[in-house]
Amino acid sequence: MVVRLIRSILIFACAASTGAWGQAYPTKPITMTVPYAAGGPTDTVARSLAAAMQPTLKQTIVVENIVGAGGTIAPSRVAKVTPDGYTILIHHIGMSTAPALYRKLSYDALTDFEYVGEVTDVPMTLVGKSTLAAKDFKELLTYVKAHGNKVNYGNAGLGSASHLCGLLFMSSIQVELTTISYKGTGPAMNDLLGGQIDLLCDQTTNTTSQIKGGKVKAYGVTTARRVPSLADLPTLQEEGLKGFEVAVWHGLYAPKGTPKPATDKLVEALQIALKDPGLKQRLADLGTEPVPPEKATPEYLRKHLAAEIAKWKPIIERAGQYAD
Ligand code: ASP
Repeated sequence: MVVRLIRSILIFACAASTGAWGQAYPTKPITMTVPYAAGGPTDTVARSLAAAMQPTLKQTIVVENIVGAGGTIAPSRVAKVTPDGYTILIHHIGMSTAPALYRKLSYDALTDFEYVGEVTDVPMTLVGKSTLAAKDFKELLTYVKAHGNKVNYGNAGLGSASHLCGLLFMSSIQVELTTISYKGTGPAMNDLLGGQIDLLCDQTTNTTSQIKGGKVKAYGVTTARRVPSLADLPTLQEEGLKGFEVAVWHGLYAPKGTPKPATDKLVEALQIALKDPGLKQRLADLGTEPVPPEKATPEYLRKHLAAEIAKWKPIIERAGQYAD
């Protein structure tokens, strides 16, 4: 902590001696770290956002996937890098669930980061392989109740959004399915398309085109409201799963001690990117939209993260699932 503080004071002092940070930063490419596999939904949000932030930053943002351990390896790395504004992290709801799920986490989500802002809230969908013998949610219930743990459910590891959604689904219908973990739902989707797994609950940013192309069966939306780009798909609440709600919020972080002029510039780039018509259209096509400007701020993200940690802790403790 103290070492990090000294390091960031030194970085700031050097920058100040070569001119104001606001003008100087960034002078080289920035790495945006993604905790899940390339080609998956978080990766899709990251790459779309990076492209929309670049014009303001006048630098390239290189997206790097640091995967594994349910999405906890990337934040753990970013928490320890030199806080100079050149390494940032995009993460989702998993930032708030890992503190309760993992007995040993090498970072503290509430003290090891600077907060840039929220990016987007993405609904999820429950989808099945195209050959699954259940054409709608009603038939799916009958099917999973009859086949129980012979039904495979893919997820992105403990604490991922797909894991949470699966937990809620299993506890709502009181059936235990067999879970298969991946380094992200990009590879899980590939296996669903190949018929190696039966079910997956994943962000619309990964499922929309597969649903529209008829490549997977869609059983329901995880949010309280339907998704405009998938207007015919009922919500799981409409299907009878009372109170079922999971929305995957994404936030942008920098390591603690990143000089304020750098985080200010990142906030500015985020705010401008979220108004970009190209990004809005891309997200709309994928069933989501940018958050309003008041949520794309450090204060909002920090408060939201703290509230989400407090919300998930008792739910996870009740489920009694932990990882070391
Ligand atoms: N959708 C994944 C999750 O379940 C993560 C990803 O691959 O983006 O958290």
